[in-house]
Amino acid sequence: MAALIDGKAIAEKVKAEVAAGSERLIREFGEDARPNMTLIVVGSDPISKKLVNMKANDCEASGITPTVIALSESTSEGKLLRLIDRLNRDDDVKAILCQLPLPEHISTKRVLAAIAPEKDVDGFSARIDSDDYDVAACTPAAVMRMLRESGVDVAGKHCVIVGRSNMVGKPMAIQLLLNDATVTVCHSKTEDIASHTSRADVLIVEVGRPGFITADMVKEGAVVIDVGMNYVDGRPTGDVDFPEVEKKASLITPVPGGVGPMTRAYLLVNALTLAERRAEK
Ligand code: NAP
Repeated sequence: MAALIDGKAIAEKVKAEVAAGSERLIREFGEDARPNMTLIVVGSDPISKKLVNMKANDCEASGITPTVIALSESTSEGKLLRLIDRLNRDDDVKAILCQLPLPEHISTKRVLAAIAPEKDVDGFSARIDSDDYDVAACTPAAVMRMLRESGVDVAGKHCVIVGRSNMVGKPMAIQLLLNDATVTVCHSKTEDIASHTSRADVLIVEVGRPGFITADMVKEGAVVIDVGMNYVDGRPTGDVDFPEVEKKASLITPVPGGVGPMTRAYLLVNALTLAERRAEK
């Protein structure tokens, strides 16, 4: 039976580190150096609104000043881009987040690309051509920390990622490569996915389909990281058939209480890093 990787507990540790880092920054550079975060939410999707409120509360608990800007569903792409441009040029704004998903009439790609890299708290514009990765995409950074905290050294290990999104799968592959793992990335066009997943020492799943990974797709003793966050009858559910896979894996993340709280904690890490960079300039 697998041991649980307790994302909630590790996230509390990370948040305490960020709170201490914020205090240190303010002690050294004064109150003006306090990290802040502007969170934009467009539309009335209850999950997006809830997530933004949780992120704003996390900020407050870690010495980061949040500002929430809520825009109506009918907001045009032009208006949103002009807002981002204004925030980019506002010297008092140190970090910008735009909650996804956006309404269909707005291009996510154009909006994310508009956020200045030095204010991109989600880390979506992090460079991938070097190990200069101090503001990394939050979910991959969170997963790396969870592995380290659990004593898993990925060097030389075969890590299989299912999902190749720009926000999780691709930057996850880079982070693993930077840590000397051997990486396989699977996606919807991959033939015989199980032939790959069943050879993984570390299996990371971000497909967005409840129960996608079944026990027969997992190697005995594998480390299984479930990034999936799906709502089934209103309840959060991962991409892994947890009750069955738990019997085969050596370590596994639960949903909820796994990658989710750690991703939010790494948003705070990034907000602190952006404020530090600004103060030290
Ligand atoms: P996404 O952009 O839709 O990406 C899903 C990926 O899964 C794509 O690369 C897709 O392949 C692949 N895929 C879909 N069906 C597949 C299949 N049958 N076999 C193999 N691969 C398949 O979704 P996302 O935004 O990355 O989110 C995925 C899940 O992760 C969702 O449940 C989301 O809520 C969750 N998530 C959680 C966190 C967290 O902090 N816990 C953070 C981010 C995302 P193609 O590229 O070929 O289409």
